[in-house]
Order: sequence, then structure tokens, then C-alpha cells
Amino acid sequence: APPKQTKTKFGYLPDKDRIFTNLYGKHDWRLKGAMQRGDWYKTKEILLKGQDWIISEMKLSGLRGRGGAGFPAGMKWSFMLAAKDGRPKYLVVNADEGEPGTCKDREIMRHDPHKLVEGCLIAGRAMGAKAAYIYIRGEFYNEASNVQVAIAEAYQAGFLGKNACGSGYDFDVFIHRGAGAYICGEETALIESLEGKQGKPRLKPPFPADVGVYGCPTTVTNVETVAVSPTILRRGPLWFASFGRTNNAGTKLFAISGHVNKPCTVEEEMSIPLKEIIELHAGGVIGGWDNILAVIPGGSSTPLLPKKSCEEAIMDYDGLRVVQSSLGTAAIIVMSKKADVVKAIARLSLFYKHESCGQCTPCREGVTWLSKIMTRLVGGCARLEEIDMLLELTKQIEGHTICALGDAAAWPIQGLMRHFRPEVEERIKKYNKQKKSARPCQSN
Ligand code: NAD
Ligand code: SF4
Repeated sequence: APPKQTKTKFGYLPDKDRIFTNLYGKHDWRLKGAMQRGDWYKTKEILLKGQDWIISEMKLSGLRGRGGAGFPAGMKWSFMLAAKDGRPKYLVVNADEGEPGTCKDREIMRHDPHKLVEGCLIAGRAMGAKAAYIYIRGEFYNEASNVQVAIAEAYQAGFLGKNACGSGYDFDVFIHRGAGAYICGEETALIESLEGKQGKPRLKPPFPADVGVYGCPTTVTNVETVAVSPTILRRGPLWFASFGRTNNAGTKLFAISGHVNKPCTVEEEMSIPLKEIIELHAGGVIGGWDNILAVIPGGSSTPLLPKKSCEEAIMDYDGLRVVQSSLGTAAIIVMSKKADVVKAIARLSLFYKHESCGQCTPCREGVTWLSKIMTRLVGGCARLEEIDMLLELTKQIEGHTICALGDAAAWPIQGLMRHFRPEVEERIKKYNKQKKSARPCQSN
């Protein structure tokens, strides 16, 4: 049933406050339709207000990076201003959306590409960039095609290129296609790939803001972060900041998948309770709320939550920290009692093993071991003491690698053991009573 309230403090975002007005592709995504929905309105005025104004408005809005790390956007956009040695500066948009469960940037590129293109111009102006590269995941063929059309339309209308929008500012936008490697979503691997090399993460520091593409100052930022910026500047930072809680401001795209009646991507107010967003927008858990087993709240690298925590969880940065998880990409993966949670986490381990670039030992070797032990757990060949061994291994990986992939592989397993250790032990004991030949896993 439709909600009785039209708007509460944390949820039930009314249509008039949605930034992504064509999220479901019901309207014309091309320039004419986009302009009718308010895109490219007074862009010149925004550009003419200058870098300092744009950055201070973005800071005031409280927007935090929507790629997963939640770094304050206004602060990040200001970093390149410090580089005054004459090297060209670049904006790189991370459209390599690959985190399992995450499909929000995909919808923006498919149905609202002009928000992204206009956002590139405004963010680029704020940072003093001469061009933007949009690095689009290789599998996103249709999305890349739509963004390319939007860029061409913007050039034709005089919104991009020399004297963009008549502002006196020159700005180009290019698309670069990825080739299917998850690790190229890590910002420094993305930069390597953009330069034509293998996508292997670099050590930070130096951060890209100092040494990025072709050795020049670069800011890498997520599609959603860039795409919301024109609306924030038009409607005002305080409008955006009025949603969510302090430190967790704004509206946000959430992708809800798994055992729900109506999987969807939806724009909602930050800080909406997890249970509410599932019931309101995804038609609830299949079989009813009591049939829920666990939820991964923010994409595959965020630790899962058992039913009790799902009832308490608030969907924002601080709220999910309270239940020992994180917002990540806000991709909510729901598992009902029908799910084999051990198998699900083992599948993620296999994914991370496959996607490791292999250049640092704790990740290359450690994540391979994680995956092997998780496979043994699933198949019934593990011993009880291997649970502690597995946890110890996650601790040896966590924080000891060049990029966050190592952590991302470790955290789901830690979450599994934190909440489902008795079930895992029970499973091992049950299998251990059977003859080895009767167990699904024969590798022991
Ligand atoms: P991070 O915290 O290392 O960095 C966040 C951003 O802030 C980076 O752009 C970094 O350059 C910048 N930054 C941080 N400190 C800085 C400093 N002192 N000076 C200048 N710049 C600074 O996180 P990360 O490795 O970029 O991202 C990890 C997150 O990515 C994970 O939490 C995960 O949720 C997410 N992720 C998303 C996807 C996806 O498909 N969207 C895929 C994989 C992972
Ligand atoms: Fe490569 Fe893994 Fe090291 Fe990241 S943590 S640099 S993916 S080996």
C-alpha cells in the first residue's frame, strides 16, 4: 500500500525532492528531455560564480563521496587548488561500478546522462581541470553509448568545449572504456589503466590530487557524486543538507537486491531505517520480514547484518558503524532463510580471489587461502579449528595491503563469523559425522 505520509524526516522522499527525475527511464533522457527536467539551467551563472563559491557551497551541502568511501566531496574538490606549478589538472569520473550488488551509477548513465555531463563541467570548473575522463566499466555498453550521445549533444549546444556555456572557460569531456577488471574501480588502478597500463593500484601517498593521470594533479570521483552537484548548486546546499542527519546529509541512491519481492534502485533520504527502505520500496522480504536471515547493507565488501541488527540499522555512514558494518555503495543485498549464508560469503571470497591484481603478498596469497578455506567450509571438509585460522588470516590481510581489496575480502568473513559462528560450527560438526566420501567437498 502506498505510504500515508508524504515525507518524514528520514524517508518517504517526495517526488519534488528527487534529484534523479528519470531514474526509471520513463522520460526522454536526451538533451531536450533533460532540459525540460531542469538540467543545464543557469549553468553559465554557476560557472561564473567561480571555484571558491562552488567549493564552499559543496562543503556546506555536506555531500560525501558516493563511491563507497564517503570522503567529504567539497574538501576533495579543493585539493587540486594547491597545485600551482602549471601542470594541467584533470577530473576523472569513476564509472567502473563493479562492487557486487551495486547498480546505481548504471541507472544514472542509462537514464540521466546529462546530469553527469553537466556535473563534470561544474566539478571540473571548481577544481580548475582542463578536461574530464569518464572511465566506464567495459560491460556497460549501452550506458557508455548514452553518455557519449549526451556529450555530443552538449558539445553541439555549446555547453562543452571552448568557452563552455559562454562562460569563458574551456572544458572537454572524454569517455574511456574499461575492459572488465574489478580492480580498475580502485582509483589509482583506474589511472594506470587510463594511461594504457595494467590496472594495478599504486601506493598512496602520493594521492592522485598530487600525482594522478600522466603525473598531473587529478581528482577521481564517483558518478553519483558528480551528477548530484548541479542540482545541489541550483537548489542550494541547505536544501540538500536538510535531508538525513548531521555528517550524513542528503538524498542517496540505494540498490536493493536479493530475496525481496521487487528489487530496485531508488533515491531516498539518507538515514532511512534499513527495514523501512526494504518494505517501502522493494516490496518487503520474500515470505515476510520474519523470513529474513541476513542483509549485506552496502555492497559486497561490507559485513553482513543478522536479523536483529537489520531491525536497528540506519542507512547512513554513522548508523551502520553502530552495527559494525558500513554504508559502502548503499547496495542492500537481502538474504532470506532460504539462503545458504556460508555459501554466499564463500562466493564473494572466490570473487575477490579472482579479482586480486596479485601485486601484494597478503592479498595474492591470503585471499586465495580465504577462498580455499571458505570452499572447505561450504563442502564440509573443514575442521573446527579452521574457523580461528580463517579469522587470523583476515586479520593478517586487513590493513596490510596496497589497496582496499584486501580489506574487502576480509570483512565479509569477519561479519559471517561474528554473527553466524554457531551455525558454521554446527555445519562442520554435522559433516564431520558423515563419511568423507559422502561430503560434497572431496578436496581434503
Ligand atoms: P579511500 O578512503 O582510500 O579514499 C577516498 C578518496 O579520498 C580517494 O579519492 C582518495 O584519493 C581521497 N583521499 C583520502 N585521503 C586523502 C588525502 N589525505 N589527501 C588527498 N586525497 C585523499 O577509499 P578508496 O580506496 O578510494 O575507496 C574504498 C571504497 O570503495 C570501499 O569502501 C568500497 O565501498 C568502495 N568500492 C566501490 C566500488 C563501486 O563499484 N562503486 C567498487 C569497489 C569498492
Ligand atoms: Fe592488488 Fe590485492 Fe594488493 Fe590491491 S590489495 S594492490 S588488488 S594485490
